[in-house]
Amino acid sequence: MEPLPLVSIILPAYNEAENLAMAVQKIAEQTELLHHQFQFELIFVNDGSSDQTLTLLRELHQKHEKWVHYVSFSRNFGHMSALRCGYDHSRGDAVICMDADLQHPPQYIPVFLEKWREGFEIVYTTRQDDESTGWFKRNSSRYFYGLMNRFSDVHIEPGAADFRLLDRKVVNLIRNSQESDLFIRGFIPWVGFRQYAIPYKPDQRFAGQSKYTLRKMLRLALNGITAFSVRPLRIATFLGSCISGMAFLYALYALYAHFVLKETVQGWTSVLLSVLIIGGLQLLTLGIIGEYLGRLFLQAKGRPPYIVQESTLPPKTT
Ligand code: UDP
Ligand code: MG
Repeated sequence: MEPLPLVSIILPAYNEAENLAMAVQKIAEQTELLHHQFQFELIFVNDGSSDQTLTLLRELHQKHEKWVHYVSFSRNFGHMSALRCGYDHSRGDAVICMDADLQHPPQYIPVFLEKWREGFEIVYTTRQDDESTGWFKRNSSRYFYGLMNRFSDVHIEPGAADFRLLDRKVVNLIRNSQESDLFIRGFIPWVGFRQYAIPYKPDQRFAGQSKYTLRKMLRLALNGITAFSVRPLRIATFLGSCISGMAFLYALYALYAHFVLKETVQGWTSVLLSVLIIGGLQLLTLGIIGEYLGRLFLQAKGRPPYIVQESTLPPKTT
């Protein structure tokens, strides 16, 4: 008899101690229903938690040695790195990733697998926000995707979340990617293949608070934009040439005023305004260029996206 296909489920966890046991239980409820068709492995990625997460993960692994595994980082590397580590260590023919806080309802696991069986290499979800999501989260996410789609060359559906199933083919693309700061949410629409979208309503967080601070969100947004496009650089060029054009015309007028009209005005307002505007734009474009230069710098250093300190899985093999 052929072995059943293996499905990996990866869960990044950063200070999620109160949620872990519940997450395993809720996921097990779903996977038990499917055990005639699939084998499962759960991979927790402990992203440098400072609470009891690691201790609990060790216990969970002992209790469910067959299918619960963990990889633990040496410090906090961020959600994207944790996801990437999960993909690197997964062995499944299909890989599902979801949050450890139970906001991504495990009831969707059978739906994912059904679509995968139908031949979709990517089954992703789009979050249907309602009042319970919180005003700031809803709007910042909408604003971000709007900005992202305008400023970059890939189209990401608003509300796209890190709750999806990927076929081994796509996982291998992520594993083999040379990008040091891979923006997975933008990479998925970019790779193509047959993709299927499932709208879902997020549940409330089971316990604890969101681990995405404003700073982490901003960093993600900036990464997302500069990882996928050189369009901001072109905007800088475009703005620069517009302003140079206007400056040239104004210079002509200044010469005309000086030599023909013979009236040199003492207007400091116009001088001040143009200095401020041009100065601001220069700083902005320098910032944009710096951002790309920084990415090149990080890529050139070739540092790994995360460092594993402890793991119940064999290290990544290429
Ligand atoms: N997370 C992580 N590293 C971080 C921040 C978050 O691994 O630096 C994990 C977190 O434990 C959770 C998932 O990423 O499983 C999503 O984070 P969270 O629930 O805090 O974000 P939100 O749902 O509020 O967007
Ligand atoms: Mg959450």
